[in-house]
Amino acid sequence: MHSFFYKLSSAMARFMYGRNGTDQLNWAILVMYLVLWVIRILVSALDVTVAAMIIDVIMFLLAVVLLWRTFSKNLAKRRAENQRFINWWWPIKNRFAAAKARKADKAHKYFTCKNCKTICRVPAGKGKIVITCPKCGHKIEGKS
Ligand SMILES: [Zn+2]
Repeated sequence: MHSFFYKLSSAMARFMYGRNGTDQLNWAILVMYLVLWVIRILVSALDVTVAAMIIDVIMFLLAVVLLWRTFSKNLAKRRAENQRFINWWWPIKNRFAAAKARKADKAHKYFTCKNCKTICRVPAGKGKIVITCPKCGHKIEGKS
């Protein structure tokens, strides 16, 4: 049994050699596929035929792209795609992480400048205050 799995995994490794395999973009496609799969189950429970059809088409296309990217031998192109995806996704991910950190920070209150969108941090519990934006000088009124 051991040698069967060994043979299988080495055959798999030989097959995957020189191919793209799994990268961050493929993971994102896979996650998107699974999310759609859950939505698809909910939609079919609600009997929304058109929505179900659209989701089926999108899921099919995602599966095709996922398989095609996984087994692709054009590594330069796949890496460039993946890099573009990471460049797009990182700022979004970081913004979510920063928002979460601000929410967890009970010692400070955060205000967003309406003029330039700079986030200003002030100590919490000072009552009504006027903050001057350090970037553009805009006055922000708030309660901390
Ligand atoms: Zn400002």
